[in-house]
Amino acid sequence: MTRVVALGSCVVDLVFRMPRLPGRGETLFARSAGIYPGGKGLNQAIAARRLGAETTLIANMGDDLFGHYLLELLSGEGVDTRYVARDAANGTGFAAPVVFDDGENSILSAPQANLALQTALVEAAREAIAAAGALLLQFEAPMEANIVAARIARAAGTRVVLNPAPVVAHPPELLALADVLVVNEVEAAMLAGGTHPAAQARTLLGGRELAVVTLGEQGAVFATASGEAGVVEAFPVQAIDTVGAGDAFCAALAVALCEGHTAAAAVRFAAAAGALAVTVAGAATSLPRRAAVDRLLS
Ligand code: ADP
Repeated sequence: MTRVVALGSCVVDLVFRMPRLPGRGETLFARSAGIYPGGKGLNQAIAARRLGAETTLIANMGDDLFGHYLLELLSGEGVDTRYVARDAANGTGFAAPVVFDDGENSILSAPQANLALQTALVEAAREAIAAAGALLLQFEAPMEANIVAARIARAAGTRVVLNPAPVVAHPPELLALADVLVVNEVEAAMLAGGTHPAAQARTLLGGRELAVVTLGEQGAVFATASGEAGVVEAFPVQAIDTVGAGDAFCAALAVALCEGHTAAAAVRFAAAAGALAVTVAGAATSLPRRAAVDRLLS
């Protein structure tokens, strides 16, 4: 059985569809609104689970209504939530993405408990990390927690799959601990410089197993330690909402690598998962199941 541990953020998105932002002192009614689960940790955990992996999530939530809602959702998906802490001092993270008529958005974000995830919680999950085939990390969690988790994983031979998103200040050690790096175009430019994705993938590879630059509807390019490199075309799909594509991609890549697929096959599997994620609105709601990915691949 493939085992994956994800560490990262869990938030509730209160989405407002608006003609514009209200000015100071102004009240403006939304065209419509909705409440959605999100956060890279939650998305990647649910994605890995839906793709067939036994999945454990390490996260910090408030002891409040939103925390209750997210925990119920994760349990319903079959994600192991033994290492999801309920923080009495910090509320569950939430955000208010404001989506304009042209699809552009502005986001008010309150990470709250996500930024208070304790290293003691990561230590408590040591055995789960050591027993996993892959550890999924992103940059929406405290760097100390990411570092502790990555060190435990490396010492135990668990593959560290890092998605350094969004790019924020980070200790160089964290990048050095990653066996697999997955970045989008923006992150590639910031971390590798230049504009040529294949060159960026080679720069980001360093001594690691695999580096991937994702290019949205242009697919992805990758470079491996064994000298393999390549371009994986995007699967042609009707794009509805690109939110969640990157998270589906990272989780799928981790699952496929754990299953022993080659880098090229794993990137293709991940591209199929990413493509399916853009065909459905929302983030967590759009994460594809194994059967759908296998169907698209055949
Ligand atoms: P992020 O959401 O992190 O910016 P990308 O937009 O690069 O990441 O998407 C991740 C992956 O999902 C891409 O490499 C691609 O394989 C797939 N994908 C994204 N958008 C599309 C699309 N419009 N059509 C098909 N596949 C897509």
